[in-house]
Amino acid sequence: MNTIDTVVIGGGVSGLTAARLLTQAGQNVVVLEARTRLGGRLWTDRTDGTITDRGASWIHGINNSPLADLVHQLGMKTVEFTVGGYQADSRPIAHYSPDGIRLSDTEAAAYVADIHAVDAQLAELIAVSAPGTSYGEAVEATLAQQGWDPERTMRVREYLRHRSEEQYGVWIDDLDAHGLDDDSIDGDEVVFPDGYDVLSTRLGDGLDVRLGHKVSQVAWADGGVTVTTDHGDFTAAQAVVTVPVGVLKSADFKITPALPEPVAGALDRLEMNNFEKVFLRFPRKFWDDGVYAIRQQGKAGEWWHSWYDLTALHGEPTLLTFAAGPCAVATRKWDESAIVTSIMEALQRLYGDRVPQPIQVDITDWQDDPFARGSYAYMKVGSTPEDHDLLATPVGGVLHIAGEATWTDDPATVTAALLSGHRAARNILGREVSLSQLPDRLPR
Ligand SMILES: Cc1cc2nc3c(=O)[nH]c(=O)nc-3n(C[C@H](O)[C@H](O)[C@H](O)COP(=O)(O)OP(=O)(O)OC[C@H]3O[C@@H](n4cnc5c(N)ncnc54)[C@H](O)[C@@H]3O)c2cc1C
Repeated sequence: MNTIDTVVIGGGVSGLTAARLLTQAGQNVVVLEARTRLGGRLWTDRTDGTITDRGASWIHGINNSPLADLVHQLGMKTVEFTVGGYQADSRPIAHYSPDGIRLSDTEAAAYVADIHAVDAQLAELIAVSAPGTSYGEAVEATLAQQGWDPERTMRVREYLRHRSEEQYGVWIDDLDAHGLDDDSIDGDEVVFPDGYDVLSTRLGDGLDVRLGHKVSQVAWADGGVTVTTDHGDFTAAQAVVTVPVGVLKSADFKITPALPEPVAGALDRLEMNNFEKVFLRFPRKFWDDGVYAIRQQGKAGEWWHSWYDLTALHGEPTLLTFAAGPCAVATRKWDESAIVTSIMEALQRLYGDRVPQPIQVDITDWQDDPFARGSYAYMKVGSTPEDHDLLATPVGGVLHIAGEATWTDDPATVTAALLSGHRAARNILGREVSLSQLPDRLPR
């Protein structure tokens, strides 16, 4: 058997990017992937002839995006859908009052203006906040400065709660004040009618990937690494470890010797979230025309508050909603019918008996997925944005951690996965390599 230069653990976007760039540079690379498919948290479900992205769906802003450039190079089809980030008004949204009455344009404009006013001040307050401040505390301090009545204050508070839940899958008081610093969208957002996994399939094309290889231990030393799997050991000069933070922290995945500082501390301060998708396909459209999303204010929208109209993707009337943060925790063990009943009650509050039973429902279960253990990582209170990059500090010159949680500028995204894999390859090669070569054929 040929000597392995680099073992890459994980066949998601970060691992495949690193493996492809290293293979193109002439290295002998083996990718070990526990699942029987590539893509990791890119997972396009094609059962029953429908295309459903159960993991990532969006590129959150295509301007100045290396991911958008790559997708373009690969000829992947995209559809504009600019509401992926929890935005208040980037595209038309039907806002419903706590009583289920649609806000007039004037009322919606006033509500959105309140959000923008608080948002601007919130960013200033967070910039000077003491370490250990939660996002919730920063929000409360900013709201207190407004001098608004309780009702007006509550509408903006709940919007910011929902943002923390929908963007990071976490209750507002459990997220560090800086946990949404990266939350900006540059340009249109897009989704993939043919499935996001075309990206991972193309990145994996021609690589030496061993599917169904579950790694249980990575032993590192000056001379290299030995990776233990349920199909035997793999020895290499170095390893790129791209398993999610939840796996890295688990007892099922040992690193010996234990990770040193600053990597160990950074890992401790990041945490996997609670965030699930619910897709509802209906026999007919019953919701507002000409809107990208429907939003419910107030107590009625505590859990199910936002529905996104995916009809434009495949021409089938489809709404996507999220169980995010506390809702995902509370409904984790619910069966499908209990979740659908709960969502249907919320929709019927808005649309009455016009709401037909869905003809197909898909609910994800990332929280109980042993190779994900949540959807993506968030910043616990007391962490700093730099913890993401610190997690990728090379260990002993032989161990390189990559993945969405290791990229400070835009964590928790496919972009982060791509760029972190690129960085790992550069660090191993000790020189610059261009991302634009990724679509090139592999040597031999
Ligand atoms: C529901 C959901 C919605 C999302 N929405 C978006 C979005 O719209 N836009 C966006 O940009 N991002 C989104 N994300 C985040 C995005 O999917 C991830 O940031 C990105 O795909 C992570 O890539 P990765 O390579 O870092 O990790 P992964 O894709 O998780 O790859 C790691 C790989 O390691 C494997 N692995 C784990 N344990 C082991 C083991 N013991 N042995 C061997 N292999 C192992 C896993 O199976 C996996 O394939 C979403 C994620 C989820 C779950």
